[in-house]
Amino acid sequence: MEKIERDFYLRDPEEQADFLQQTWCNECQQVDLGMTDPVEYELDGKIAIEGKCKKCKSTVTTEIASEDEDDVWQ
Ligand SMILES: [Zn+2]
Repeated sequence: MEKIERDFYLRDPEEQADFLQQTWCNECQQVDLGMTDPVEYELDGKIAIEGKCKKCKSTVTTEIASEDEDDVWQ
């Protein structure tokens, strides 16, 4: 599937802050460590934000439930 890049920074600042805070890191096995360098993209109809774990710098991905936002974006 093609990965379509989106602009994370178009989101509300509050929403951005939430997504940067609410993470799951597979390496640390911990939630909410936070991420840096967020990149938002769409893959296979799903929106996700990929960034780096603040603690270990591994890649962390947050999938966004997009049920009520689909219409706005089309
Ligand atoms: Zn980590």
